Amino acid sequence: MSQGDKSTCLIFNILFTLILEILMIDCLINMPSQERKTNLEKRLKEIRQRELKEKGIKPEKTPLDSSQKTLIKETKLGVVELKEERTSNTEKEVKNLADLKNRMSKTATTEAVEIMFGGAVSVKASDIHLEPGEKSVGLRFRIDGVLQNVFDFEKKAYPAILNRIKLTAGLKINIHDAPQDGRLTLKGKEVDIEVRVSVLPGAYGESMVMRLLDPRALKKDLEELGMRSELLEEIKKQLKKTTGAILTTGPTGSGKTTTLYAFLNFVNKPGIKIITIEDPIEYHIKGISQTQVEPEKGYSFASGLRSIVRQDPDVILVGEIRDAETSEIAMHAALTGHLVFSTLHTNDAAGTIPRLIDLGAKPQIIAPAINLAMAQRLVRKLCQECKKKVEISAEEIKKMRESLKNIKKIDKESIFKATGCKRCNFTGYQGRIGIFEAFPIDQEVEKLILKSPAISEIRELIIKKGMMTVLQDGYLKVLDGITDLAEIERILGS
Ligand SMILES: [Zn+2]
Repeated sequence: MSQGDKSTCLIFNILFTLILEILMIDCLINMPSQERKTNLEKRLKEIRQRELKEKGIKPEKTPLDSSQKTLIKETKLGVVELKEERTSNTEKEVKNLADLKNRMSKTATTEAVEIMFGGAVSVKASDIHLEPGEKSVGLRFRIDGVLQNVFDFEKKAYPAILNRIKLTAGLKINIHDAPQDGRLTLKGKEVDIEVRVSVLPGAYGESMVMRLLDPRALKKDLEELGMRSELLEEIKKQLKKTTGAILTTGPTGSGKTTTLYAFLNFVNKPGIKIITIEDPIEYHIKGISQTQVEPEKGYSFASGLRSIVRQDPDVILVGEIRDAETSEIAMHAALTGHLVFSTLHTNDAAGTIPRLIDLGAKPQIIAPAINLAMAQRLVRKLCQECKKKVEISAEEIKKMRESLKNIKKIDKESIFKATGCKRCNFTGYQGRIGIFEAFPIDQEVEKLILKSPAISEIRELIIKKGMMTVLQDGYLKVLDGITDLAEIERILGS
């Protein structure tokens, strides 16, 4: 550039700035004072924000822009309507995760949220995870207890999806650096599904986990749980009693709640008063008084149970026994003419007794109060479409023969194994079934309980008396072609 060119450029610049200044001053003079003030405020806000951004300071609340304001106006608080054509039209239906990925990637963001929820419901996902990474956002579903990748999408699409869900769940869209919890309802044609939403700030943005409480997943009859016929008969016999407790154990997600709801459905008849205390109420059963713990209001399992006993119930469900007080009231109720159902956090059925003793219950109370102790796990069922027949290896047959030696002679040469197809989202599994162990407290077991025995002593006695263990039940379900050895190993680690 020559010297002359440079000067022309400079002059042009000065002139341009001058004209602009004059125009702006003219504007400001002619503007009503209120408008001028708000304009000035807006300008200052922008400068302050830019300063904060440059210094790397995150503001607590960011101001809402016009698109966010429109979103607030358009979003219905607490409800996402699942449009029929997105969930049950055969042509457009999301049958598997590949369909969902395909449909979501073609859709505008607000619609993407509906399709995501609709898809989650139709593939029977229990949780939806949105996880922002450095460059993209991962969408994963938990199906049958295992997380599956759905797809990764561009990060720029995330704020709109995040905001839409946050608003519906009653959360603040202008807070990005604090965890938030909310809830919303998916309104479907057949059923309403409660969704618990949890937002957590992270290095690459806010991640979101949504738990879907589909009542259909919990609503099972006793016969559908997967109990072998002998156990089913024993349970039915126990459920006909009018006093005593049935306790079921297992880790979180082992299907204990489903089992207890099946018990409630079985005993739920006119003329029987049933009251529950749960955390939370996962689905509502007609004819039953259900209550939910609210620790912040002082309604705990213990205090709730104390009030429930005064309500003259025949059957009581206590979501979980996790402290001395609850255990004491529950045992007392079981001894005084109530049928009590509850859960304990232990690994196996034998562990029930030592756990109660740990909580402070006296062996002489436990023995007469408990009718039956159970443990359970959920294993994924093989996909019927793609399960593959394979030869049993020498090692596998040895393991199963050893475990089942007193129960069943294995003369099979082949078992089934998971492979994977479109129908099962290439996992090889579809749906889950329970594997169980249970023992009634009879005189012989009662005698042992009075000695405050170790888990191993109880286990030895009840196995000698013929209790089938969860592992044995699992192996039998492998031999029946319901599940496979890899799944038993995943769940039981044996
Ligand atoms: Zn399959």
